[in-house]
Amino acid sequence: MADSTTSIKSRTLEAGCKAEAARGRFTTGLRLGYGPRNALPPYARTVANELKRISTRIGSIAESATLKVDGKAKALQAAGRPVISFAAGEPDFPTPEHIVEAALAAVHDPRNYRYTPAAGLPELREAIAAKTLRDSGLAVSASQVVVTNGGKQAVYQAFATLLDPGDEVLVPTPYWTTYPEAIRLAGGVPVNVFAGSDQGYLVTVEQLEAARTPRTKVLLFVSPSNPTGAVYSPEQTLAIGEWAQEHGLWVISDEIYQNLTYDGVRAVSIVEAVPALADRTILVNGVAKTYAMTGWRLGWMVGPTDAIKAAANLQSHLSSNVSNISQRAGIAALNGTQEPVQVMHDAFDRRRKLIVAELNKIPGVITPTPQGAFYVYPDVTGLLGREWGGVTPRSSLELADLILDQVEVAAVPGEAFGPSGFLRLSYALGDESLLEGVQRLQRLFA
Ligand code: PMP
Repeated sequence: MADSTTSIKSRTLEAGCKAEAARGRFTTGLRLGYGPRNALPPYARTVANELKRISTRIGSIAESATLKVDGKAKALQAAGRPVISFAAGEPDFPTPEHIVEAALAAVHDPRNYRYTPAAGLPELREAIAAKTLRDSGLAVSASQVVVTNGGKQAVYQAFATLLDPGDEVLVPTPYWTTYPEAIRLAGGVPVNVFAGSDQGYLVTVEQLEAARTPRTKVLLFVSPSNPTGAVYSPEQTLAIGEWAQEHGLWVISDEIYQNLTYDGVRAVSIVEAVPALADRTILVNGVAKTYAMTGWRLGWMVGPTDAIKAAANLQSHLSSNVSNISQRAGIAALNGTQEPVQVMHDAFDRRRKLIVAELNKIPGVITPTPQGAFYVYPDVTGLLGREWGGVTPRSSLELADLILDQVEVAAVPGEAFGPSGFLRLSYALGDESLLEGVQRLQRLFA
């Protein structure tokens, strides 16, 4: 069922409150600095009356909840606490050696000491075009690629390139925490379409159609998904792609986890399923998850020439080119051996099976088996409203706090990704820590 109305209402409320807080901070700050209000010099009074310190647009952005929980866990670990963190959205492996070697060589190559084209190094754009054909089944030229500072910038630029104020974006929910913020920053309106554990966290065409309005411009498609790890089947992808095509929608397809799928499943790209969509689809991708390169900040967007040209223009004023060292490393990642990727993949697969089996031993926790990414998304509504160690959590936010306080395990609450009632656990951590962490949960909720 679409929960767009409630979601938008509560978001607006939240944004309003934050804007008020920003205003409050401003006047308090002035009073502290200048004494009573009427003692302000005239120029400061004008400023105080009319200008806020922080713009409404930026002041209403929430801190990334995933980074916040991860940061809290890391701070506790640094303070010597034996915290086990399932919060990180990144592989725990080092970047493969041949990629690091390529970066080292790049550091010593003076060609990399200067600005390069904003849209990316030509060799990297070629490598990305080849990867797009290989994994997304779409033939593109290098001119249809913009290299970005991580997939995150590609997400932001894709929305900024397509949305006018008031344009609606259908957002399958639970969603990665950055999407609604990026949509709103671009002036758009996120419309959440919720799919729970009972439907494997996969939205249907019927649900999307029920949420579509004359203002709907973009469908966001994410398979495998963060936070749920859910992967749409080729048939489901085809049905959704054909529906988007029929209604003339744009699609932003985030394929950053496309190489991390299990059980012999392949995440078929929506443009491979429905090639005609390519003229209105922007693919978002990057090296972070597949190659254990989150810190290198290298992503990209691929799309029709006009959208890519517009996005490159935006980037030329926003960030110019991505670090040449990272771009050279990216060429090695995409064109070099894929053996280390397979090793990491197999470790994730083993941990996935372990964590799902162990979590499902906890009464009241429902954990569908994810077929992609490195997250599990248990439905924990069965644990809410009951007393655990003297505390009765009413929401997954309170539950995550309780878990961190009582057994020193960090997980990201569902509120970061949409409705309450879920936890996201990343299994990108060592097998021993993983087992120890889940056993702490088993003991807490025994
Ligand atoms: N898309 C999804 C679905 C993600 O989970 C992430 C990282 N958490 C990104 C994009 C961005 O990744 P990065 O900026 O590190 O390349």
